Amino acid sequence: MTTYTVYKEQLPELFGKWSEEYSLYVPAKLREGFYDLVAWKPGLEIAWDFDVAYNSPKRFLFPPREALITFDRRTCEAKPVFEAPPQILFGVHPYDVKAINQLDQLLEGGAPDQNYVRRREATVIMAYEPLTVSSTAFWASVGAGTVAHGFDLYWTKIGPAAFTVEVGSAKGEELLSLCGGLVPATAGDKEGARRARARVQFRARKNSLRYNWEETPRLLAKCWDSPLWRRYSQMCLACGSCNLVCPTCYCFDIRDEVDDQLGEGVRYREWDGCMLEGFAKVAGNHNFRPKAQDRYRHRYFRKGKYIYDKIGELGCVGCGRCVRACTAGIANPLKVFNELWEETAHEH
Ligand code: SF4
Ligand code: SF4
Repeated sequence: MTTYTVYKEQLPELFGKWSEEYSLYVPAKLREGFYDLVAWKPGLEIAWDFDVAYNSPKRFLFPPREALITFDRRTCEAKPVFEAPPQILFGVHPYDVKAINQLDQLLEGGAPDQNYVRRREATVIMAYEPLTVSSTAFWASVGAGTVAHGFDLYWTKIGPAAFTVEVGSAKGEELLSLCGGLVPATAGDKEGARRARARVQFRARKNSLRYNWEETPRLLAKCWDSPLWRRYSQMCLACGSCNLVCPTCYCFDIRDEVDDQLGEGVRYREWDGCMLEGFAKVAGNHNFRPKAQDRYRHRYFRKGKYIYDKIGELGCVGCGRCVRACTAGIANPLKVFNELWEETAHEH
């Protein structure tokens, strides 16, 4: 893979050129301790040391609310709606790239989700090696600390004013070349990037699973009847925040909105969440996960077993967003998986 060295002073010109054709999003500080990807404008201060973006990048590929078709009941006509603005997501940490790779597999496989596919095709991912680690993150221990694909460019800060940039796609290289002649990274610069990664990976090991993450599906299979589910779910407010902030959750609900003449309308989808009480309600008012305990257990089985059974990876990339978002303090997969591990210690 080709790697170049790019200097900070080149970025304003580069960003300016990119933003002529793309909506460009970059990490910025919202307030103390809170960061997010926001629309770039000249002079915006980039938060190079952000630990985690408060909202996950899935919203750029799978918006919270999205029209799917417009229809006219009088003429019985329906038209699909596809909105896929060209966009660059600059500063996506590797665990979030991993989450996007999972969405690609899950939403593009089988019967592809056309709205997702088109947005994904119009999106350039510029991965960025973190410099700091969120206090609630545990990505290094769930196999999400590094990614080998899923990005167009991968930026690593190797000093106050320089980056190495690994090329992941021809599109990425073309965009990078807009700043003039590309400078191949020297062996010293590549070594600087390797060290920067090693440093942050080391720091990220502070919060870790007590076992190899690949054991999680087998662990959960033994824990269906654990008392832990009841103990924690008693405190659950069923607010769904842990679902909404999660970069790998992609459940949605579909609704129709029709004008007051019952003529023209729009069918749209919006995010849903398995922790919400009505999520599993079906016709006849039957709810197949009526208790908080059932919903709470389901979320962990989905993160630790069901997704793994499909694609061989955990459905949790360890970003720690749910840990921060949960006011009841019970949404932490690391804590739950470690406690289940302790609970079954006599079996391993
Ligand atoms: S379950 Fe929590 S820690 Fe895991 S990916 Fe989702 S938000 Fe991040
Ligand atoms: S964020 Fe916490 S309180 Fe809200 S649904 Fe999730 S586990 Fe329950």
